Amino acid sequence: GKRINTAVNSALSNTQDDYATTVDVMLKTIVTALLESDVNIKLVSKLRNNLRSKLLDSKSGNKSTTNAQTKKLIQKTVFDELCDLVDCKSEHPFQPKKKKTNVIMFVGLQGSGKTTSCTKLAVYYSRRGFKVGLVCADTFRAGAFDQLKQNAIKAHIPFYGSYVDTDPVKVASEGIAKFKKEKFEVIIVDTSGRHHQEEALFQEMVEISAVVNPSQTIMVLDASIGQAAEQQSKAFKESADFGAILLTKMDGHAKGGGAISAVAATNTPIIFIGTGEHIHDLEKFSPKSFISKLLGIGDIESLLEQFQTVSNTEDTKATMENLQQGKFTLLDFKKQMQTIMKMGPLSNIAQMIPGMGNMMSQVGEEETSQKMKKMVYVLDSMTKQELESDGRIFVDQPSRLVRVAKGSGTSVFEVEMILMQQQMMARMAQSTKAAQGGGGGMPRIP
Ligand code: GDP
Ligand code: MG
Repeated sequence: GKRINTAVNSALSNTQDDYATTVDVMLKTIVTALLESDVNIKLVSKLRNNLRSKLLDSKSGNKSTTNAQTKKLIQKTVFDELCDLVDCKSEHPFQPKKKKTNVIMFVGLQGSGKTTSCTKLAVYYSRRGFKVGLVCADTFRAGAFDQLKQNAIKAHIPFYGSYVDTDPVKVASEGIAKFKKEKFEVIIVDTSGRHHQEEALFQEMVEISAVVNPSQTIMVLDASIGQAAEQQSKAFKESADFGAILLTKMDGHAKGGGAISAVAATNTPIIFIGTGEHIHDLEKFSPKSFISKLLGIGDIESLLEQFQTVSNTEDTKATMENLQQGKFTLLDFKKQMQTIMKMGPLSNIAQMIPGMGNMMSQVGEEETSQKMKKMVYVLDSMTKQELESDGRIFVDQPSRLVRVAKGSGTSVFEVEMILMQQQMMARMAQSTKAAQGGGGGMPRIP
């Protein structure tokens, strides 16, 4: 993101009249950045051509654009094009139905994160009121059942598997039958992977799929897959015909650029991302936030965009000004909470705030909304001086914490949690400012 931004600046300052040259210089830098993030070569070149004609078209009708406007346009176009690439809008997202049997089958290479993600998804649906069971149909790898069992016990999810049976098809169908009889609503089937794509694996997947008859098949993809994504996802699509992709290890160094080609090659959406090894580290996939990360822009940017579209009051303007100066006070935090509560649906917004995405996945929408109301009560109990501060005033004078907790009917711990979140935002605002290099407060991508 930073690099792209720098390129924009230098390209624009060179030849202001030669717009086409400017566009080409910029696109070259963007192309390099995308290739380094493992985005597929063919896609990048298609994207480049799309962008080029779009940018040149948009210029022809409007000769009097300023540098700032041109820059903004280029950034927005790049961002939107990339979002379109990963956003399969045509697909209807799968939703398990209550009081029905919904079977979800996981496929993917060994080590991609199937077993871990199965448990995460089981927890996800269980928290949303479904009766969920896990079936271990991985009889290939020694210790596979033990791993699933340990995960399931930790997450309090009923499980089925066998230490002795080596026929995955048989184990899978027994597991399904058992859970069906006990009226389970979501049955998640974990399958074995191999180190490489092999005939035997694909054969096994076809056979398991035939007996479990999944309502949804999910292919698990490691974010670091890189250029192999296209070929691998095509091969899996042919035998397992998955309807969704779960992208794991997004907490690591890889930005998941390869996954874009998996989406493009199979026309299948990414539905969730794995963001850690813990059972709650599962987040709904958001194209904007994914592309922001890929381009190296913090989520704060997409949050700001949402913010701008919802309200344009004086209050919001003050917060925007603060943010552009790298500041984020408790008052900004309070205004943000209030705006967010007006924005809805919460789940889309909460994902963008540090710590909130996780909070959402652990509890329901209702509960989150309650929590947010509580946060506003806490902020309501602060004085003007406290609100306009950066929060350090509470560290210097802890008695203030006690007063606010009492005044809002919460606890010191809860007040501290809110301070922590505000601090996180303040740090993000600071680093965003640093990344801009003090570039005159110019808006960046998107
Ligand atoms: P499987 O062979 O496909 O079943 O993969 P596993 O579920 O056994 O996962 C392989 C390794 O990746 C384990 O060490 C997991 O803890 C780790 N893992 C899975 N998902 C994630 C993730 O989202 N983030 C991180 N950091 N590690 C993950
Ligand atoms: Mg496994």
